[in-house]
This record gives sequence, C-alpha cells and structure tokens, in this order.
Amino acid sequence: MPSFIIKTTRREEIVDLTTKIKEIVKKNKTKKGKGICYIYVPHATAAITINENYDEKVCIDFLNFLDKIIPQGKWLHDKVDNNGAAHIKAALIGPSEFIPIKDGELMLGIWQGIMLCEFDGPRERRVIVSLR
Ligand code: ZN
Repeated sequence: MPSFIIKTTRREEIVDLTTKIKEIVKKNKTKKGKGICYIYVPHATAAITINENYDEKVCIDFLNFLDKIIPQGKWLHDKVDNNGAAHIKAALIGPSEFIPIKDGELMLGIWQGIMLCEFDGPRERRVIVSLR
C-alpha cells in the first residue's frame, strides 16, 4: 500500500498533498480507472481535510478559527504532554478522507485540495493512500 512521509516545520500548519496523491493515483491504476482513493494519517495530533489552497489565506483562516474555538493551554491532557488542543482538533477534523476516482483521476472540484493538518509539529507524519 502506498505511503509517504511529510516533515512538518511548524507547530501548526496545513500541507497541500494534492500533487503527491495525484501522482500515486496515476502510478497505481485502479480497475477500469474507477474506484475510491482513501487517504489516512495514523496520528492522534494530525488530520486530513479537503479545502481550497489557491488562496493560502483559506488555510490560515482555518487554523485561526480552530485556535479560537479550541485555545491552547486549558485542557486536562496538557499536564501530560502539553498538546490537549492538538488532540481535540485532530479528532474533530478526522484522520482521513475518501475521494472517488473516475477515468483514472481524482474527482476533486477545481478549488479542492487534499490537506494534511499539523496540530503538534514539527514532526514526521506518515500518509497512507489506499486505492480500491
Ligand atoms: Zn498528547
């Protein structure tokens, strides 16, 4: 099963995975060019979402919004490893997305990109891509 590592560089950031995932879909053809692409991160403080990245401010707004509703430093888990907010954000956004494949290509809308959400970096994050 294809997977790759992303090295994040900040505590919180959004990393656009779209080009990388499209390459994997091209290399690992599904039957009749149809199917499902499942993207998953095996981490408790990172997430996968689909959003616009043409205007990078969309991603900045998204992180700022999450910070507003889930502020740092006020959670019980902070006493363990000081990342309570990151766990809540990751759980809310979720570790995965499904995208249908047609004619060998992801059926993403023109403004949609596949994003890794880092909530407790910098770290190495594994991204798993399953094609069916
Ligand atoms: Zn923790």
